[in-house]
Amino acid sequence: MNRTAVIFSPRYCEHNPGRNHPESAKRFTAIMNELKKDTLSQNRDWRFVEPTKASVEDVKLVHDTEYIKHVRSVCRSGGGLLDLEDTVVSPKSFEVALYAVGGTLKAVDLVMERKFQNAFALVRPPGHHANRFEACGFCIFNNISIPAECLLRKHRLKRIAILDIDAHHGNGTQETFYGTNKVLYVSLHEDPRGFPGTGFVDELGEGEGLGYNVNVPLPFRTGDQVYLRAMKEIAEPILRQYKPQFMLVSAGFDGHYADPVGSLSLSALCYREVCERIMKLASETCEGKLVAVLEGGYSLKFVGRLVAAAILEMSGSRYAVSDSIPKPKKSVRIQGEKIIEEVKKAQRTFWKI
Ligand SMILES: [Zn+2]
Repeated sequence: MNRTAVIFSPRYCEHNPGRNHPESAKRFTAIMNELKKDTLSQNRDWRFVEPTKASVEDVKLVHDTEYIKHVRSVCRSGGGLLDLEDTVVSPKSFEVALYAVGGTLKAVDLVMERKFQNAFALVRPPGHHANRFEACGFCIFNNISIPAECLLRKHRLKRIAILDIDAHHGNGTQETFYGTNKVLYVSLHEDPRGFPGTGFVDELGEGEGLGYNVNVPLPFRTGDQVYLRAMKEIAEPILRQYKPQFMLVSAGFDGHYADPVGSLSLSALCYREVCERIMKLASETCEGKLVAVLEGGYSLKFVGRLVAAAILEMSGSRYAVSDSIPKPKKSVRIQGEKIIEEVKKAQRTFWKI
């Protein structure tokens, strides 16, 4: 079996939210420049795979028909704002967004068919903020929720885990699966009081979904040490106990200290360790069936290296990463540790942590 599929198409660069928008095609130029370096392209344990285009029916697994029509019509009329803030579309964005969803669906199929051990869907626009009725935070369609629905319906799985490591809370994903125990949503993110306004400790799910929603809202400028502690003491034990049949990861890299959008202070070494731990977890719980989907990551200096390191880790090799490790303020560390304890207390009703 081939090791890692990297889903990518140059089409993803055709979505243009405008000059000076952080979610630009330049991100992909930076990632491709890194992946095309000799040392990386000679590693043939990963390979590029073209995405297919999702159908409107696929998108309807998560989104409302009227919303889908609205996106199409704004694009057809030349583009513009989809929300009240900063989610902008250009004439080709509807098409590109269908390819983003199609890319993640393809990734899941390749892994389910055992053609690849795992896959990284290198897609844009990102997805985890989009909900049933609305675009939000640069996201149009929810690229991670749609394959999760597909795994439940088409592949008849009963336990899917979504681990969200983007710096921001995946409000759209949480909302989609808030009432079900078939999808466990675990998110580590920065203080969500400003944006997106959800992602607090006491959002635990409802009905059958009660206990299947885990939020770890860390203080701004949290560093590697506290972040890794949240992974080890909260995310990992809960995911192990849930025993997912498939793991999806909302892979955002905007928690890096140099990121112009996110407000955490993580180093590249932290990301690589997180990736290593996720790989271990997937191999222990679901025979390594893992699909990572790109979300944020806006530092043009670092995003290429961060993504490359993740892809190499997934394909079983190591990327030589060097980076400085920011030392957060003591007050930030203490506040972070306090939140970890609060999350544990809230989740102990449901999990042994
Ligand atoms: Zn983000």
